[in-house]
Amino acid sequence: MPLFEVNYIAIYTIVLAFIFGTVLASFITCTAGRLLAGMDWINEHSHCDTCGHQLGALDLFPIFSYLLLGGKCRYCGAKVPIRCLISEVLLGFVFVAVVVLHGMIDVIMVRNLLLAMLMMGISFCEIDGKVIHGGFITAILVIWIGALPFVPDLQNYIADGVIACFLICGFFLVISYLRTSKGKGGFKPGFIKLMAVYLLYTGLYAGVAFLAVSFILHMFVKPFKKTIVPAMSVCCLIFLCCMTDRMDPTLIHGYIAAVADYIKVF
Ligand SMILES: [Zn+2]
Repeated sequence: MPLFEVNYIAIYTIVLAFIFGTVLASFITCTAGRLLAGMDWINEHSHCDTCGHQLGALDLFPIFSYLLLGGKCRYCGAKVPIRCLISEVLLGFVFVAVVVLHGMIDVIMVRNLLLAMLMMGISFCEIDGKVIHGGFITAILVIWIGALPFVPDLQNYIADGVIACFLICGFFLVISYLRTSKGKGGFKPGFIKLMAVYLLYTGLYAGVAFLAVSFILHMFVKPFKKTIVPAMSVCCLIFLCCMTDRMDPTLIHGYIAAVADYIKVF
């Protein structure tokens, strides 16, 4: 249903999105940290990283717990990194933005929210541990597959995503191969895999656009310089939320006709 048809539903959804964003931010930062440390990320209870004390319900309220405890552990007084607070507020606002930009309350909205959460996790893993974690890439792929029945014009959607994957990732694989054969470093395999799953979501045209913008961000904007993963994630999400219809179905036939023409020329 459309988000802005009934006022109170819109407000309710936006508030709920913010709350879910803050809660899931602490979940995903915690998960990213545990994956990097090689710990069990499902069964282990939340605990203070300094004293190891198990955290109670009162310590786990996003934003409020941090502010009420003055950014310190209730049990040992150790400082809790300010990033916990920042990531909670950030994902809260990202969730609100995703909901508002999408403008519909549907499965695709939920898919985009989950994707935003996983993007935060994969970015933190890369920033902290220089690892593009395969678990996150798999989760992003699983969500893409899970939401397929709810995508309009499914056949072209899949074709567009797969074509984008093969063309653009193929291009980067060739560059990577040329670089390694010249003795320079190639791309990380994780980087190509992550790009492939993002391209499944965006398709070819938006894929080229979001990659171009993310390379520019990575090169020229300071917070994104360290690694390209956050820039790629942010751009992919923005393009995904702003696109209503990702491509004209006839374009697929256009591609094939163009390739056929090209082959005929030779
Ligand atoms: Zn502690």
